[in-house]
Amino acid sequence: MTVKDLAEKIEVKAKEVLKKLMEKRMVLTINTTLDTETATMIAREFGADVKMRTFEEEMVVLESEVIDPGDLVPRAPVVTVLGHVDHGKTTLLDAIRETRVAEQEAGGITQHIGAYAAEIDGRRIVFLDTPGHEAFTMMRARGASVTDVVVLVVAADDGVMPQTQEAIDHARVADVPILVAINKIDKSDANPERVKQELAERELTPEDWGGQTVMVPVSAKKRDNLDTLLEMILLVTELGEHKANPKRMATGAVLEAKVDRGRGPVATILVQDGTLHVGDNFIVGTHVGRVRALIDDRGQPLKEAEPSSPVEVLGLTGLPQPGDALQVVADAAKARQIALLRQNQAKEKALVSRGTRVTLESLQQQLAEGEAKELPIIIKADVQGSAEVLAESLAKLGDERVKIRIIHTGVGAISEWDVLLASTSNAIIIGFNVRPDRNAAGVAEREGVDIRKHSVIYNVTDELKKAMTGLLEPTTRERQLGLAEVREVFKVPKIGLAAGCIVTDGSITRAGDAQARLVRDGVIVHEGRIGSLRRFKDDVNEVKTGIECGITFERFSDIKTGDVIEAFTVEKVATV
Ligand code: GDP
Repeated sequence: MTVKDLAEKIEVKAKEVLKKLMEKRMVLTINTTLDTETATMIAREFGADVKMRTFEEEMVVLESEVIDPGDLVPRAPVVTVLGHVDHGKTTLLDAIRETRVAEQEAGGITQHIGAYAAEIDGRRIVFLDTPGHEAFTMMRARGASVTDVVVLVVAADDGVMPQTQEAIDHARVADVPILVAINKIDKSDANPERVKQELAERELTPEDWGGQTVMVPVSAKKRDNLDTLLEMILLVTELGEHKANPKRMATGAVLEAKVDRGRGPVATILVQDGTLHVGDNFIVGTHVGRVRALIDDRGQPLKEAEPSSPVEVLGLTGLPQPGDALQVVADAAKARQIALLRQNQAKEKALVSRGTRVTLESLQQQLAEGEAKELPIIIKADVQGSAEVLAESLAKLGDERVKIRIIHTGVGAISEWDVLLASTSNAIIIGFNVRPDRNAAGVAEREGVDIRKHSVIYNVTDELKKAMTGLLEPTTRERQLGLAEVREVFKVPKIGLAAGCIVTDGSITRAGDAQARLVRDGVIVHEGRIGSLRRFKDDVNEVKTGIECGITFERFSDIKTGDVIEAFTVEKVATV
C-alpha cells in the first residue's frame, strides 16, 4: 500500500506517517508504495493491530465449497512439444490436429487458440500448440505448471542438437516426464539408433535398451506411427494418474491473451480443475471478469468447459499474461477485492524481487551467515569446447557448503530463454565471450538475474572461488552506454574498414574511459577502443539514439554488416 493508503487505514495524517518514516531515514512521498515490512512496522508504531493474511488464505476464504474426494475423475493429459528448430514440431502438431481432431463433424475449421484436443479411441489428449521453449518457460516463470508430459521431437537425420539439450534441461528443471518422438524416419539418411545413442548419453535411455524413456519413431510428414505416439502419451501419463473434480468451481491457466476488435480482451484458458460455465465470475491475474462466452478449439460456442479443456473466454475486464491463474469465485465483490490485493502485491513484488535473486554477492553473504547453499549455474560460451571446460572446472569447485550444479550449457548468445531458465531455477548465468541478446538483457534486468560476463576461464573460477570463501572483492561492473547497428561497411584510406552505423540504444561515445566491443550473432569478436566517431565528415564525441554515424576501431577492422557495436564503461562497485 502507499503511504497515503496506510495513513487512511490507521487513521492518522499522512504527514505524521511521513515524519515517522523520516525518523527511520526513509524520505518518501505520500504516493510511495511501502513494502509489507515497513508498512507493518509503521502501523505498529502508531498502535495499530496488524494481522497478516497471505494470498493463499484469501483464496481459502473464497473456497467455501465442500469438496468430495469421491468426485475426482481422470482428466486428459496436457502435452507440450519441444525440440530443436526444424526437427518437425509444427509439422507434428499440424499432422495430429488434422488427423485426430474431428473437425468435419463439428462443421468448422479448427482455429488456432493456442491449444487443441486430439482424440484417439474416444480418449482425449490436449496439445499446447505454441511450440517453442519460450512459451513453456514463460508459463513456468509465472508459476503455472500446465504440462503433464513433454514430447521431445528429435530429427532422425540430425540427432541431438543444442535446443534438444535445452529442452531436456528445461523439462528436468520443471520435473516433467519426457517422451521422445524420433521424427523424419522416412528420410533415407535417418538414423534412429544414433539418436537413441545420443539421448542415452544424456540419461534418457530408451526402454528397449533397458531404460525408462519411451521413444517412438514417427514421420510427421508422412503421418506414420502417429497413433502409436498418441497411445504412448496416454500410457506414460496414465502412470501420473491425472485427476480433476468437474464439480468444483473452475481453476485454470492463461495460455494466450489478446485484445480482439469487437470482442474485447480474449484469453485462451486451459481449465485445469473444476468446470467453467458461462456466467461464472472469476479472477484472472490481476483482473476480474464474468464469462460472457466460451469457444472451443473448433470455433464452437460452449455452455461449459470441463477439466483439461482449452477454451477461449470472453468477458474479461483486462488483459492477463500467459501463465496467470484463473479462479472462479462465488462472490463478484470479493473477486474485485482480491484482484486489488493482487495488484498491490504485484507492485510490491516488483519492488522487492530484485533483492531476492541469487547473485554472487548474495551467495557470499548467505554463506557468511552460515547457510549452506546450492548454486545453480547456466553457462553460455562462444564455442562448445569452452563451455565444456568451464562446466567441468566449475563443478569441481563445489564443497560441503556450496554445491555447484550446472543446469545448462550452451553455445551462442545468452537468450531470453536462458534468462528465464535462470529466473525459474534461481541460477546465475556465466557468459563466456558471449553477450545477452537484446530481449535477454531486458528480461535479465526485469527479473534481476545475475549475468557474469568473462573472457578468461581463470577469472571465472577465481571469481566463484572468492565468492565461496567470502573474499569477493569490490568488483568492477560494466555499464552499457549504447548500441549501434552496422548498416554498411566501407573502406577508409590508411585505416581500413569503417562501419556505417545507426545508434539503436543510448549513445555511442569516445569520451573518457569508454570502451567498445564488436558483437556478431551474440559472440564478441573484438574489444577495444573506438578509433574515430564521425557524423558525415566531422569528428564528434558522442552520437545519440536514432542518429547515423561512422565508427572505426583502433587497430581492428574486421567489421561486417549486421554486427553490433556496444559502447561501455567499467565502474568499480562495492559488494553488498
Ligand atoms: P519446427 O521448426 O520444429 O517446427 O519444424 P517444422 O515442423 O517447421 O519442420 C521443418 C522441416 O522439416 C519442414 O520442411 C518439414 O516439412 C520437414 N519435416 C517435418 N517432419 C518431417 C518428416 O517426418 N519427414 C520429412 N522428410 N520431413 C519432415
